[in-house]
Amino acid sequence: MPETQQRIIAHFDLDAFFVSVECLNDPSLKGKPLIVGGHNERGVVCACSYETRKFVVHSAMPMKSAMRLCPQAIVVSGSYKDYGKYSQWVTDIIAENAPLYEKASVDEFYIDLTGMERFFEPYKWTIQLREKIISKTKLPISFGMASSKLVAKIATDEAKPNGYLYIPPGREKEFLAPLLVSKIPGVGKHTCKALNDLGINTIEDISRQSTSLLEKYFGKYGADLWNKSNGINVHQVVNMRRAKSISTENTFFENSTDLTFLLSEVVRMTEKIAYELRQDQKIAGCIAVKIRYSDFETTSRQVSIDLTDYDDELIRKAKDLFRKLYRNKKSVRLLGVRLSHLSDQGQQTDMFGDDERKSALYRTIDEVKNRFGFNSLSKAAYK
Ligand SMILES: [Mg+2]
Repeated sequence: MPETQQRIIAHFDLDAFFVSVECLNDPSLKGKPLIVGGHNERGVVCACSYETRKFVVHSAMPMKSAMRLCPQAIVVSGSYKDYGKYSQWVTDIIAENAPLYEKASVDEFYIDLTGMERFFEPYKWTIQLREKIISKTKLPISFGMASSKLVAKIATDEAKPNGYLYIPPGREKEFLAPLLVSKIPGVGKHTCKALNDLGINTIEDISRQSTSLLEKYFGKYGADLWNKSNGINVHQVVNMRRAKSISTENTFFENSTDLTFLLSEVVRMTEKIAYELRQDQKIAGCIAVKIRYSDFETTSRQVSIDLTDYDDELIRKAKDLFRKLYRNKKSVRLLGVRLSHLSDQGQQTDMFGDDERKSALYRTIDEVKNRFGFNSLSKAAYK
């Protein structure tokens, strides 16, 4: 993509997501002051309806304080399984329609429509996508559209609840100028107060400061604030095209009974899809091997594995599966390997701790593959 190309980013955010799901589950809650969160002494507010926000109740607030501000609020503990289900539903609708999207959180998505204006009108398309999500899931959702992720996200916030807003290119600064500094994502209570103490109240106030003054008070973050206040934001939408599985199949030129050859093919194919898996920044929780014999009898076998994107672990499993599946001496026509139960890579670190050294190794191998082609580095044969 050339540097100068005008980017078109849509940011979607479900309105009071948990609350909306609770209202779908129990329509009598609709329009009532509702809080999702812990009932007990130390409970905190996870989400709250717009009716409670009028009483300055907000998420992360201790439940005790929330109940003091809005004693009539109805508190529910939250149906987290349903939140996941609805989140996935919305993700699926976006994945079906959008050319490139990123799931930023359980209820937040970016869609990159840069270049799509040649095929359709991006703003109209996004309005229709929003209508589709609402008519299918019955969940209220808002979007902002702009030339960067940052401005699109702030536009969504301004469009809420249940609306949408387009900031045409060239109008970013004008849109941001009158907004309070707290509207910048990441500017919390403390930064907000520090800015206000300096007489800086609006985003325009920040943009008028010198970066050196902002850096004096906020360090590196000062320059970041200045860039944001000027609508400068270069973050890319991270493609999360949600493939259900990654697989490869190979029909042989000649049917084979050669175990060494067949195993080396299993290794080669597994390496290929493991590479693709890492390129998609995914990890797999399931691996399958398929064999088609020369008489077209087809058998396959799969096994659940600890989430991984490492060649050696995947290859070991694939070879295991092949050995269990293969009927000796029978002539093989086709082999297939498939990875499924894919998750986003970030989860691996959370769940199992990160094996830094191995990750670095495979990143290096992938970089070589990216530069010199896939076959430049390959495990010579099966071990
Ligand atoms: Mg939301």
